[in-house]
Order: sequence, then C-alpha cells, then structure tokens
Amino acid sequence: MNVDGLAAVITGGGSGIGAECARVLAKEGAKIAVLDLNLEGAKNVAAECGGVAVECDVTSSESAVRAVGKAKEANGIAQLLINCAGIATPGRIVNRNGPLPLEDYEAVIKVNLIGTFNMIRLIAADMQYADPMEDNERGLIINTASVAAYEGQIGQAAYSSSKGGIVALNIVAARELARSGIRVNTISPGLIDTPMMAGLPPEAYESLSKQPEFPKRLGTPKDYAKLVLHLCENVLINGEVIRLDGALRMAAR
Ligand code: NAP
Repeated sequence: MNVDGLAAVITGGGSGIGAECARVLAKEGAKIAVLDLNLEGAKNVAAECGGVAVECDVTSSESAVRAVGKAKEANGIAQLLINCAGIATPGRIVNRNGPLPLEDYEAVIKVNLIGTFNMIRLIAADMQYADPMEDNERGLIINTASVAAYEGQIGQAAYSSSKGGIVALNIVAARELARSGIRVNTISPGLIDTPMMAGLPPEAYESLSKQPEFPKRLGTPKDYAKLVLHLCENVLINGEVIRLDGALRMAAR
C-alpha cells in the first residue's frame, strides 16, 4: 500500500514508538490521528504531524468508539491502524507481601491485550468499507507485542501473558479479515529506547544496552517505524509476527 493520503490511526501515539510512527507516516503523506490516554502527548505529536489528537482509553468500548468516530470525522476511514498503547507494570506472581493483587494482573491485560482487540474490532468494522487499493487491499493493522511473549522475565507474568495473547490473536485476525482485504501483522520488539525505559538506573540501562547480540545497542523508535513502512509497502507480509530485537534472547532476570 502507498501511505500517501491514507488515514492512519495510531494508539499510544503520544509517546515513544507510536509517536515516531506518527512522524514517519506523516512525512510519507499519511493523514494521522494520534489516539492516547495522555492527551497532552497526543496533542504535541499531532501538532508536529499536522494530524489530529484524540483522547482514547483503549480499554473502554465507549471511549474507543468515540475516538474512532472523531478520527474518521477528521481523516476519513482509517486504512492503517498501529496499536502501540501499552503498559509494562511489573510484579511477581507471589512476593513477600503475598500473591499479586488480581487487579494488577488484570490492568496490564486490559490495556495491552483487550485494548489491542478493542481497536482491531472497531477499526476493522469501518476499514472493510474503505475503497480497495492495488491487490484489492483495504487496509493494514499492525500490533505491538514484545519478546516478552516468548522469554518473559521474572516479574513479567502479566506483561508476558498480554503480549503472548497478541501473538496468538494475530493469525486469527489475519484469517478473519482477509476476505475484506485487510492484512494483520505484529511486531515483537526487543529493547527499545523510549520513555518506557526511562526511570531505569543508569547501570541497568547500560547493562540492557549490551544485551542484544548485534547490534550492541538498544533499538530505537526509528527502527520500529522503518519496519512499519516496509510492512505497508509489502502486501505479501500478512499474518506474520516479526521479532525486532538484534537476536536478543532475554534471560530470566
Ligand atoms: P510509551 O512511551 O510508554 O508509550 C505508550 C503510550 O501508551 C503512552 O503514551 C501511554 O500513555 C499510552 N497508554 C497507556 N495506557 C493507555 C490506554 N489505556 N489507552 C490509550 N493509551 C494508553 O511506551 P513505548 O515504549 O513507546 O511502547 C509502545 C508499545 O511497545 C507498548 O505496547 C509496549 O509494550 C511495546 N514494547 C516496548 C518495548 C520497549 O522496550 N520500549 C519493548 C517491547 C514492546 P501514558 O503515558 O498516559 O501511560
């Protein structure tokens, strides 16, 4: 697909990976809607992109319906959805205070997994009516999992479960939406230098930077956005989950 003139919805677009996707896609001519819980961040990114900022809590049906409606009003039916909204609250299954509060587990599943599904269902319901492009393609959905879907570390029970759910959802969504000419792919990043990594002590940051096999550095939101552009261009990539991690394999801790 050629993204020039295409309407794109990016969740979690007010920060980190989602924000860079918005910038890069805007440069290629896409019409951007930045959806985020953090409206301030969304407004800043939307201003840079000449796009629209929309407050959205991806865990809520009502909030997401409203946000998708506002994005459509501004830019038309979205033919590109990038699901980047996410949280990574850690917590051991059992710690010295007892079992992990169930609400803590649920909160992460709600944003990462249910939020991703919520956006897929609402956007796809409109996308199926978009004008077909080359190969009868109507749109592309890109989800964000994590290498934690495969090698979850100690303290990542909720996060890994949520990302594993996204990996499993990928092929089902690709199969179901194929008849409408909608592709679905998922990117599983390794360690990406974003505000999600901020707050780490410098030693931890330094040590994490050396963990990928090659290149020996953290990934950047630009690395992610480059893959998004390739996924847009290459119509044959569908139903795929792609690790973007420099051959990183996370240890237990
Ligand atoms: P980020 O900078 O923290 O951006 C995530 C954005 O999502 C924030 O603006 C956040 O808003 C927003 N958000 C949180 N809950 C939301 C909700 N309920 N509804 C809508 N928006 C919500 O994180 P990032 O590093 O760019 O991460 C983007 C995605 O990549 C996430 O899914 C993350 O799990 C995944 N990922 C990141 C890495 C990494 O190393 N950075 C690695 C693997 C996967 P607030 O600021 O208000 O919370």
